[in-house]
Amino acid sequence: MTTWNEYVEKGGALPEWPYPILYEKENEIVSDVLILGGGVAGCHAAISAAREGAKVVLAERGMAKRSGSGGAGVDHWHGACTNPCSKVTPEEYTRAVMDCAHGYSNGIARYITCKEGWDTLLECEEMGVQIRDVKDEFKGADFRDEETKLMFAYDYKNRHVLRVWGYNIKPCLYNEMKQLGVGIFNRVVVTSLLTEGGKQGARVVGATGVNTRTGEFYVFKSKAIIVSTGGAGRLFTFAPEITAASSMSDMNSAGVGQAVGWNAGAEFVLMEQTGPGRLTGFGYTPYSMGNASNTYHGTPIVDANGKEVPWFDVEGRELKTVQERFLPSPGQNFQLGIGIGLHYYLDQYRLNNLAQDLPERVRKGEFTLPLYADLSRLPELERRVIFGMMVGNEGKTRIPIYDTFTKAGFNPDKDMLQAPVMLPEAYQNSNFWGGTPIPHLRSLAGGGFLVDWDLRTSLEGLYAAGGVPIFGGGCHGEAHTSGRYAARKAAAYARTTAEPAVDRQQVEAEKARVYAPVNQNKNGVGWKELNYAITRVMQDYCGKYKNEGTLNLGLRLLNELKENEAASTYASNPHELGRTLECFSLITVGEMVMQASLARKCSSIYLDLYRLDYPQMDPPDWRKLLPIRLEDNKVKVRELPLDFHLKPPYAPAYEENYKLHCGH
Ligand SMILES: Cc1cc2nc3c(=O)[nH]c(=O)nc-3n(C[C@H](O)[C@H](O)[C@H](O)COP(=O)(O)OP(=O)(O)OC[C@H]3O[C@@H](n4cnc5c(N)ncnc54)[C@H](O)[C@@H]3O)c2cc1C
Repeated sequence: MTTWNEYVEKGGALPEWPYPILYEKENEIVSDVLILGGGVAGCHAAISAAREGAKVVLAERGMAKRSGSGGAGVDHWHGACTNPCSKVTPEEYTRAVMDCAHGYSNGIARYITCKEGWDTLLECEEMGVQIRDVKDEFKGADFRDEETKLMFAYDYKNRHVLRVWGYNIKPCLYNEMKQLGVGIFNRVVVTSLLTEGGKQGARVVGATGVNTRTGEFYVFKSKAIIVSTGGAGRLFTFAPEITAASSMSDMNSAGVGQAVGWNAGAEFVLMEQTGPGRLTGFGYTPYSMGNASNTYHGTPIVDANGKEVPWFDVEGRELKTVQERFLPSPGQNFQLGIGIGLHYYLDQYRLNNLAQDLPERVRKGEFTLPLYADLSRLPELERRVIFGMMVGNEGKTRIPIYDTFTKAGFNPDKDMLQAPVMLPEAYQNSNFWGGTPIPHLRSLAGGGFLVDWDLRTSLEGLYAAGGVPIFGGGCHGEAHTSGRYAARKAAAYARTTAEPAVDRQQVEAEKARVYAPVNQNKNGVGWKELNYAITRVMQDYCGKYKNEGTLNLGLRLLNELKENEAASTYASNPHELGRTLECFSLITVGEMVMQASLARKCSSIYLDLYRLDYPQMDPPDWRKLLPIRLEDNKVKVRELPLDFHLKPPYAPAYEENYKLHCGH
């Protein structure tokens, strides 16, 4: 294998750009259903719409076979409430989530996920994903059902989270899309939505994009559009050299879907909700360090002297056995897993955990750092299901962790994984590889497109799917399931709607905007400098604590960035062009967050929002959603009850609404 240095030394120069550069070349692509973003949500949406008989096109910024958060795998599937072993109904699960979120979540998306998540997983099984212990490797384990061979995580009694062998889930979806004849456009970064007559707030009739290898321009014309471009990981933090290894979000997570929706006039809610950015590039390689959370839930943690940290149930009772860690306590309804977009758990649904006063105990010297995960103390089947089955299938772990550690000689039967040495308070969260939280590094948490029971946004023709950018979403299963459902609805709409007409002036204006960075003076800043500047403005002016003054200053600074640095950013090739356009979107998403934060004139523990000028926490008058949108490029805010999805024009019950809208 030739290294980069050898290659450059041999040729004596940097390589030429390896693709033909075709700036301004325009391609028109026509479809019934257009999908923007090919993560698991987008790919499953494409499959679902194609099975409905629609002509489907998917535009993906990376390579849909492995792109997105689920691209490298998944080890547990939440909300499979209709699986034959589940003891939790979709209604109970949805109500539990909504209660934990104090209403600030998406009852529609949660209910759909619970109703159809299991069916969606069965579809994945048909496509080649292993979801059962077919080789009987875990026969007799507490977490296995002998009849169906399904395996469960977190709450072994209630059995609504399934352990799955999902390392190949994206390639399986990809192959299925190909078989169904989906038109897949990889390496195309979407840049805008096209609307009827070019008007903000009008029906959405397509989108534009740029190929990040050739620089070609795409005009996608479509009867219905689904946006599933994920989150905005580069908004508050940017560490390009380490992002891939030590962050849960990838470089393509740049809030483009939110930005294009906002510019088109769609409504958004909960953009003011942010959370601590524990997993944003300043922690450790995911799942690589000793911890007792998520995939490693239940793992014994010991200190430098081998003394074990006790586990407790929600009522503060010490759990004496490993088995008890996976069972609800006597008064509990059932336990919800983590990683479902919840930041607060009511005791009725909270997981058993390590001693919650661990930071204090470390400070007092009761436990001596470093701490370690000692898998050898687990019963054999528990050990093998964590380090083996789960670490072998979870996203970003199969090669970097399981393979690398195993080849280096790590043996969970006798070796331990060291936890990072951190400030004592950081041990409050058993997800130790997240590192010590840095207060002003935040991440978006829960904000997104306002959707109805069809998963349609406020704009005709535009649907949303995914963990994000639907508001109040959360997990891998939800991404697939919302994609599958939104596509059914989008395909039905496409069957009855008129041919879309694209506004030429809108296309021309977008082309001029898109190619400005390549026609720029070469002295302009680069996209990385611009991205750093955006994150600094977000950290300083829209961090954990804010007031009207800081938010207005932040908006002014973002605007100045737009008018000065962004307007002179130079892109020397199509790759840099794509990244630069993403930065423009990040500025827009930053503005959305600041506008939403200005609109909510109170503080909220549930939204992790601390307004220094409105310190009262969650006053009853402010317990509502505040949809924001652009109308004639001016921000408009309205009010919506938290339970709007169960109020007229909708029916008062989840199941009734589902039956009326699900499309079968
Ligand atoms: C390491 C890791 C492990 C995880 N493990 C689990 C787990 O075990 N269980 C669980 O429930 N959840 C898990 N999650 C979360 C889960 O993977 C995500 O919720 C889910 O994959 C989200 O899928 P999505 O399709 O909605 O979004 P994404 O995966 O973010 O996909 C968005 C796609 O859109 C593309 N895109 C972005 N911008 C553009 C643009 N401008 N133009 C075109 N395309 C664009 C991106 O390249 C990407 O492919 C994990 C996440 C990570 C990172």
